[in-house]
Amino acid sequence: MQLRSLQINGFKSFADKTVIEFVPGLTGIVGPNGSGKSNITEAIRWCLGEQSAKSLRGERMGDVIFAGTADRKPLSRAEVTMIFDNSDGYLKQQPTEVTITRRLYRDGESEFYLNQQAVRLKDIVELFMDSGLGKESFAFISQGRVEAIFNSKPEQRRGIIEEAAGVYKYKQQKQKATGELAVTTDNLDRINDITHELK
Ligand code: ATP
Repeated sequence: MQLRSLQINGFKSFADKTVIEFVPGLTGIVGPNGSGKSNITEAIRWCLGEQSAKSLRGERMGDVIFAGTADRKPLSRAEVTMIFDNSDGYLKQQPTEVTITRRLYRDGESEFYLNQQAVRLKDIVELFMDSGLGKESFAFISQGRVEAIFNSKPEQRRGIIEEAAGVYKYKQQKQKATGELAVTTDNLDRINDITHELK
């Protein structure tokens, strides 16, 4: 699987639609301070489902929408699309070209699309959870992250290793199943109490 193209429109400093094509090999993005290099990696993380405005250097999620400049009005929505070459079938049960889009309006309305079909944030997160592109993966090492990893608590570091090893997804599923089992056990207990009272 390879990221083939990134389309940014209205996200942070990218007021106009900007398309970045990634060719095989190494891609370097260079530019003066404040020209938007970090905004590009943030656009990728945001599109993959980042939920923390702070980790995108904002106060609230709406801060990712182009806020305007002296000679340009603010925009009302931000949109980022990523196109992956999935011809190696890395993302299971997905076409050879996978497209994901995230859109956010100023009124807070948010949309996710997988191959042009509206989906939930959960679907995007689960799709990429064990791909090495998940939120806790080493695919993104932002400024200060190395230090943060070294200084993190052992449990947090374990989370990173678990995601890299591909067990994080199963742990989450197990946690969900355990929660459902507890609810079912409670319900069964209640039924048993009622049957007992009726006897
Ligand atoms: P450096 O090399 O200093 O790390 P950089 O090239 O990584 O810089 P970024 O941090 O990506 O640059 O971009 C910062 C620029 O993005 C700033 O000029 C800031 O005003 C602009 N910016 C951030 N959020 C928005 C927004 N919502 N609307 C418009 N511009 C924004």
